[in-house]
Amino acid sequence: MQETGFITSFNDDEITIRIKDLSDSQRYMITNAVGSQSTMYFDDGRHITVDQRKKIFALFNEISEYLGYTQVNVEEILKIRFIEQMDNPVWFSFSNCSIEIAKQFLEYEITFCIQNEIPFKTKLMDEIQQSYALRYQLVMHRICFVCGKTHAQLDHVDTIGMGRNRRHVNQVGYYAWTLCDKHHISGKHTDGITTFMQKYQVKPIKLTQEMIDKLNLADKGAINQ
Ligand SMILES: [Zn+2]
Repeated sequence: MQETGFITSFNDDEITIRIKDLSDSQRYMITNAVGSQSTMYFDDGRHITVDQRKKIFALFNEISEYLGYTQVNVEEILKIRFIEQMDNPVWFSFSNCSIEIAKQFLEYEITFCIQNEIPFKTKLMDEIQQSYALRYQLVMHRICFVCGKTHAQLDHVDTIGMGRNRRHVNQVGYYAWTLCDKHHISGKHTDGITTFMQKYQVKPIKLTQEMIDKLNLADKGAINQ
């Protein structure tokens, strides 16, 4: 059950919420729920920024051009799909939704492009680098962390012991990213890792067993180092 109300008081660690017009069955459910866990979502009053809205619509435009749907269709389809997967499904408008919903939606839209191999020119590297979920998508789809080029190579930020065959080493916990040829050379041989990270504002991602399995990076008999 989901309810919306107003916070009327807050003392130390107890919050009182006033919910108007509760029906008998709602009262009954709440009475029985006393003592059990519940989650609160706060509206912090910050709304979608001009920049977020611009990026969301620029991507709608690029997706519609690529797929041949109208922009309105793309917006409707993606919005409905996004709402369906929300923890707390609620209809919203891009004119006044919260900054958090806008952030989540943009992330969802970028993931949609990556997963469906829809190229985009909108500058979104900031959003991508700030999001673990999106950097994960870049690695899994072998997209360059710097320029967004496809068919990039997985590149370890940590060095695996010289002369060791990487496939024989369990790579769980190692930091890596995917880089195209041009940025691989710049990162490894021209700038050095720290300068490279600062210059392009990129962050590597920790490899998990699931990623290694999916990327087929290891021998079945890989050893733990
Ligand atoms: Zn690149």
